[in-house]
Amino acid sequence: MIKKIEHIGIATKNIHESLSVFDKLLDCSTYKTEKVASEGVKTHFYKVGDCKIELLEATSEKSPISKFLSKKGEGMHHLALYVDNIYNELGRLNSLGFEAIGEVKKGADNKLICFLHPKTTSGVLIELCQEQFE
Ligand code: ZN
Repeated sequence: MIKKIEHIGIATKNIHESLSVFDKLLDCSTYKTEKVASEGVKTHFYKVGDCKIELLEATSEKSPISKFLSKKGEGMHHLALYVDNIYNELGRLNSLGFEAIGEVKKGADNKLICFLHPKTTSGVLIELCQEQFE
């Protein structure tokens, strides 16, 4: 079941400039910064009420964020939906014709994540995420 909007991911060209902009905009600082090597990104999280904003910084030219920036420029990258069981939800969505990009994997902030292809979601890259309990 989809529970809530967990965070909104924003692709940044110059992380120092974007951190300065969002620090001022949100009147707070990031509470967490984390490298996700498998995705070629460094993530910077802000808390906004019950939701989060994730600034994405590419760590290599092969990063999906680098590709996104060269195609579309900086700005909103994805919408993350929190689910109680990512495997069940993915099964439900697959059966309805939504297309996952790859498998469920470990993402930032101690989450299991999986992306849905924007061609099946009205142009919005959707991230499903679930807390990872170890
Ligand atoms: Zn995300």
